[in-house]
Amino acid sequence: TKRWEKAMAIVKDFEEKCGTPTWKLEKVADAMTQEMHAGLAASDSQGAPTMLKMLITYVSNLPSGDEKGLFYALDLGGTNFRVLRVQLGGGAVVNQEVSEVSIPLDLMVGTSEALFDFIAAELAKFVEQEGPEFQLPPGRQRELCFTFSFPVMQSSIASGNLIKWTKGFSIDDAVGQDVVAELTRAMARKGLDMRVSALVNDTVGTLAGGRYSNKDVVAAVILGTGTNAAYVERANAIPKLRGLLPKSGEMVINMEWGTFWSTDLPFTEYDYVLDAESLNPGEQMFEKIISGMYLGEIVRIVLCKMAEEASFFGDIIPPKLKIPFTLRTPDLSAMHHDTSSDLKVVDTKLKNILEISNTSLEMRKVVVQLCNIVATRGARLAAAGILGILIKLGRDKIKDGEKQRTVIALDGGLYEHYAEYRKCLENTLKELLGEEVSESIVIEQSNDGSGIGAALLAASHSQFL
Ligand code: ADP
Ligand code: MG
Repeated sequence: TKRWEKAMAIVKDFEEKCGTPTWKLEKVADAMTQEMHAGLAASDSQGAPTMLKMLITYVSNLPSGDEKGLFYALDLGGTNFRVLRVQLGGGAVVNQEVSEVSIPLDLMVGTSEALFDFIAAELAKFVEQEGPEFQLPPGRQRELCFTFSFPVMQSSIASGNLIKWTKGFSIDDAVGQDVVAELTRAMARKGLDMRVSALVNDTVGTLAGGRYSNKDVVAAVILGTGTNAAYVERANAIPKLRGLLPKSGEMVINMEWGTFWSTDLPFTEYDYVLDAESLNPGEQMFEKIISGMYLGEIVRIVLCKMAEEASFFGDIIPPKLKIPFTLRTPDLSAMHHDTSSDLKVVDTKLKNILEISNTSLEMRKVVVQLCNIVATRGARLAAAGILGILIKLGRDKIKDGEKQRTVIALDGGLYEHYAEYRKCLENTLKELLGEEVSESIVIEQSNDGSGIGAALLAASHSQFL
């Protein structure tokens, strides 16, 4: 029929525009490398907003493995908020306990005080519930690493001002503030005696945790609600570091690669719709095509256009389909992984989430195709980003005779749970590196490495050392 043809034309056009042939990914990787150079050179106030921030983390030593003692970590960065207590035994994690709560939506767009009061209250609850075995010796204060996964301009290992919010957070009065000071004040209001000994990004926590379990880890990438990467840079390759040369000769850089933008990124009209309706138009464009917060939404926007312009779901446009963020990325992955011959999962998801019933098998196949297009584009671009880091580190080629192993720690719910995405990312990196180089480069899934990494960083920056 005419309608079906029209719908298929929309899908075909979308697929073409999402195309990520190898040559294009190579250009994206080169652009990433170039932006890394630019961001390392530019002072903080310079540069276009899309330029990589390449933030100095003040982490110049990754864990040695000798760290000992009881430390806490707080992880705030997306959908969930976590409190951890880790007992480090010098070489091993002796004991670990985690409490996880989801962040009430109203707090994500409220006031700084309300958010930090909530965090401090959860932390106080966690501490109150712990047994006598976790008492610290007299005179010793509890110490905490605050893993705060938004762009922060740090001025030391334990202080830093929030540059901007991302990933659905928007709390105006916190922007420009020192988030450690905000947390410390909230803890004082709750009567909680704890000291923040380190402030890190989750990428940095993952890098630290990864290095603890594998000495060859040089970079960490997060693919969760948002996306970001951190890596170990030579201090003398960071022009903007100036007087701050660390003894180790190294500095961990938080790339904030979600802001990456290049003319080679395959944006479509649907991505611009998503961007326009987002809390941060024009920002985080790389994040908006590869991370978990957005993939489901892109598919919803395409389906909406197919409903409007090709009556894909019949004469009326399903009302639920018009509501932003109704289709979430976990739904996308569930539909994408549907192996039943009649695509039962797709049928159920369409019914339950979008209230669309009576779809034909052909229609459900088209929905799966859309999931595949969006996930493939995201995963391939993420792989290109990783190649950009490897090029910067000079590890994208085999140096004669040298057999150095390179490990990249990967974490985040998208990578962990979306198998098709993960497989595609890994295959694409192989495709880009070639068989020989691929053998020396390993992606390692970090199982909550960022929590352990944070505890290790709290330990190595303890005031009691
Ligand atoms: P955060 O990034 O918020 O710190 P996570 O790393 O746990 O937290 O990632 C959560 C994100 O991962 C979700 O927002 C969602 O986009 C994605 N995700 C979670 N489960 C799945 C799934 N089954 N399939 C695909 N994506 C998922
Ligand atoms: Mg996280």
